[in-house]
Amino acid sequence: MPSVRPARTLLAALALALASASAGMALPVVAIDAGHGGADSGAVGLIPPEVITGLEPRATDELQPALFEKDVNLDVAHRLNAWLMARGFPTIMTRSTDNAGGDVPYTDVGTDLRARTDLANGAPAEIFVSIHQNSAKTPASGTETYVKAGAPLPTQVLAATIQRTLVACLGLPDRGVRERSFFVVRETTMPAVLVEGGFLTSPTDVFLLAQPDFRQRIAEAIGGAVWSYAGLGDPGPICSGAVAAAPPPVPKTITVARAGRALTKKAGINPRRGDLWVAVVRDAAGKPMSSIPVKARMPNGKGVAITTRPDGKALLAVPRRRGKLKVAVAMPGIKVSATRRVPARVPARRR
Ligand SMILES: [Zn+2]
Repeated sequence: MPSVRPARTLLAALALALASASAGMALPVVAIDAGHGGADSGAVGLIPPEVITGLEPRATDELQPALFEKDVNLDVAHRLNAWLMARGFPTIMTRSTDNAGGDVPYTDVGTDLRARTDLANGAPAEIFVSIHQNSAKTPASGTETYVKAGAPLPTQVLAATIQRTLVACLGLPDRGVRERSFFVVRETTMPAVLVEGGFLTSPTDVFLLAQPDFRQRIAEAIGGAVWSYAGLGDPGPICSGAVAAAPPPVPKTITVARAGRALTKKAGINPRRGDLWVAVVRDAAGKPMSSIPVKARMPNGKGVAITTRPDGKALLAVPRRRGKLKVAVAMPGIKVSATRRVPARVPARRR
């Protein structure tokens, strides 16, 4: 019937108007920046041979199975891209293959980074997230988010939201939002953050980063945070996927030796209180272990409880008295101990 037509047209027009209204609430363009790529592997972590990463198999020069940061970053970037696109966010990826920024072969770091920021600025993107994994020479574990020094408030809000969601999803130590003017956060013209999910140099973190489900968690955490930052409210279920926790490393050996002069100086301990001795706790691979509780029984019978430092060393001020120094790991179910004879000493003033 002709009389129905206008009503139908009206409904159609209304539907269209509603659709454009929601489209008019335009979701921000998100630039996803997978750190490193091509000839630049980024940080390298060692993994047990039996671990299935779901990534390109990699090895070190010594042929040890390894996890390359560039591969982890790209995998997380693709997962984040899929998560955001499924929810209607326009996205750009500064690289989508194992190459430098702009998906061109890697030449040098300056060209690589400039290509990334040019892509984001040219789009123009409204949010920039650079995805990285960390490394350190001393034992370290956890999640960090970086903004440029003196970043404006929206950037700080974005960083705080991402860091909070990542920590909740990943369960790694919260190393906080930090200021450092990395090229990609400094040279971009929109709120920009650089995320360090975990440490490839940490046995705990690398065990997790090797798992596809854990990388999915990183992606969903960042996606959920972008969702909240965009003012869309609750992002719904994120941090899904079963992730196997790394088996805690077990202390295997403890060695005790009298400290050298250099260590005494560096440690900043007054050696006049007594001789300085050092206990080192190591795991099965011979790696020094930090934060291990240690109990010591001094030659005078006194007990001392301390914890190993980040370099795996526990410093003991031993009274100047001959006898036995007994040091043991104070963890339930683990028996590792060492005993050293403390020799008689010449009085200090006669040395
Ligand atoms: Zn990196």
